[in-house]
Amino acid sequence: MGLARDREAIFLERKIMIRDAILQLLKEEQGTYVSGERMSEVCEVTRTAIWKHIQALRMRGYEIESSTKKGYRLIRTPDLLHPQEIDCRFLRFGKKYYYMERVDSTNIKAKELAAKGEREGTIVVAEEQTAGRGRLDRGWYSPLGKGIWMSLILRPPYLPMEAPKTTLMVAVALVKTLRELGVSGAKIKWPNDILVGGRKVAGILTEMQSTMDHIEYLVIGIGLNTSLEEEDFPQALRQIATSMVMEGICLPRYLILEKLLHALEAQYESVVTQGFRKTLEEWRSLNNILGQEVQVHASDGLYTGFAEDIDDEGHLIVGLMDGSKRRVVAGDVSVRTRMQLEQKKPQETEV
Ligand code: ADP
Repeated sequence: MGLARDREAIFLERKIMIRDAILQLLKEEQGTYVSGERMSEVCEVTRTAIWKHIQALRMRGYEIESSTKKGYRLIRTPDLLHPQEIDCRFLRFGKKYYYMERVDSTNIKAKELAAKGEREGTIVVAEEQTAGRGRLDRGWYSPLGKGIWMSLILRPPYLPMEAPKTTLMVAVALVKTLRELGVSGAKIKWPNDILVGGRKVAGILTEMQSTMDHIEYLVIGIGLNTSLEEEDFPQALRQIATSMVMEGICLPRYLILEKLLHALEAQYESVVTQGFRKTLEEWRSLNNILGQEVQVHASDGLYTGFAEDIDDEGHLIVGLMDGSKRRVVAGDVSVRTRMQLEQKKPQETEV
């Protein structure tokens, strides 16, 4: 049984290696022909096997032209998040990669996997979510091929009470990635949103399974709008959402995902080995909420104040008009900045 599975795994790995090698050869030649003979030499398989692999690549959306005399050439690479397109060889995050064309929610799938014992660093990536989720049972719009809709499984060594800081850590990694890729105005809105010019470009949903003193697993859902144009959003989101493309950054999604996985792993390593302090400092320099007037919708009502600081637990400290302070815990509140409230007005009058 074990042996058969090992053999199957080796067979699959070899298949992926051959496909990778074929793609690499085609990409190196940048649109000119690579002979079937050269491919079969490099990959150490027959030319018939090469042809079969080419067919499999075509099925996945790679446009490959063939000529009996000259061989094969790559015309177009699909913008897919297929694991074959993602280079995470030197990473722990993404080494185990569940890829789905369509799923209800990557967080639901990741939670099932985590409950069955799937290891830390495993990711679930979908081209489309039919029931993507935000906090407090709100939806996350995730149309086919227009964003990065993914979930990451973590099994951190810290305590359940520290879990909310994970969202801040992921937010830091997301903003660093976006800025590195040219979205210079990306900022964190506590606790779980990334905004550009007051509009949401990404959201985070952290879910936890734990006992009193031990985190069994965390599932961190990330929705990042990469290629949606304004008209791709439903009417209700047009005033409040944006995407990388709308901010002038048009990149293949595989590249964005690679960068994001690197940033997430580096940030997590820093937290696990050195604690949260450094990440919280970075968070302070990357947020757009401190010093702003905010409106907090909490379970015990609605109040307005100034976002003064984030404490060591990652909670927001809001100063009220009467001089008192409130410690706002994420998870059960909605926070709106003045900029967001102003942007929402036209839409509210429409309804
Ligand atoms: P909050 O804005 O209170 O932090 P959530 O983090 O739960 O809310 O995110 C869900 C909300 O995000 C939805 O109610 C909707 O307004 C908005 N939303 C849904 N899908 C998208 C998307 N693809 N891009 C930007 N915003 C979205």
